[in-house]
Amino acid sequence: MAGTVLPMQPTGAPRAERGHVSPAGGPEVPYAVIEGGRPGLCLLVTAGVHGSEYCSIEAALRLVRRLPEGLAGVITVLPILNVSGFRQRSVYVMPEDGRNLNRMFPGKPDGSASERLAHWLVTEIFPHADAYLDLHGGDLSEALIPFSLFPGGSDASKALATAFGLPVAVSAGGEGYTINAAARIGVPSIIAEVGSNGLWDEAGVVQMTDGIDRVLRHLGMIAGPVPAVDRHHMGAVRGRRRPLVSREGLVGPGGGRRTPGHHPRRVRRHPRDRRLQA
Ligand SMILES: [Zn+2]
Repeated sequence: MAGTVLPMQPTGAPRAERGHVSPAGGPEVPYAVIEGGRPGLCLLVTAGVHGSEYCSIEAALRLVRRLPEGLAGVITVLPILNVSGFRQRSVYVMPEDGRNLNRMFPGKPDGSASERLAHWLVTEIFPHADAYLDLHGGDLSEALIPFSLFPGGSDASKALATAFGLPVAVSAGGEGYTINAAARIGVPSIIAEVGSNGLWDEAGVVQMTDGIDRVLRHLGMIAGPVPAVDRHHMGAVRGRRRPLVSREGLVGPGGGRRTPGHHPRRVRRHPRDRRLQA
């Protein structure tokens, strides 16, 4: 039976621990803790908040297999947080309660399954991190171009997004997201989105793993400067928006249902304008 505690605290010795943890009475969640031989910061990486965003899950699984050589500090990886959603190929939600985990933060200790998992992350995991990457992508029903979201007003989070290097970075307001909850307790954080429609390919996974490596350099956890990237576009989204694609079908701006055959013009617009389903 897996415990509820991750061995995130630095030990002072190189290690790569992998196992499972049972947060908040839910299914066992895989993890890895990789500690380098030198002291440094703690980077937390999660994926699979949405269980069908495979490019991000594959990138996190590659990080799970990373070795301690050349690393300063501690990397903690939770590559598939929504295990039931992953197994059932659910779109956006946790099957246990039908809720979108990335709207449930900061959660409740006595709430539904997604609320309890969010609460466990906020109280047991986030406080040990110096920076946080939550890896996503377009879900089964969603196409998008790669971009990052960072909590508005957090310069350290904006710097993480810049370091990650995706072509677009968007400042987001709103409540209930992983990154907002983390930033609220002082942990710089971003959501990185690569891949979509239940597909992944090597180029997308490498874009994600390159971004993680760039952040590790930015944080001084591996040697070398952060490579330059082409100029970013920085945008902003204020407040929460309604989904463009609901589970029942296409909905238009403001939630009005589109009639069959009506071309959903806005689906592929710039992420600044899309209805956020991060
Ligand atoms: Zn997602």
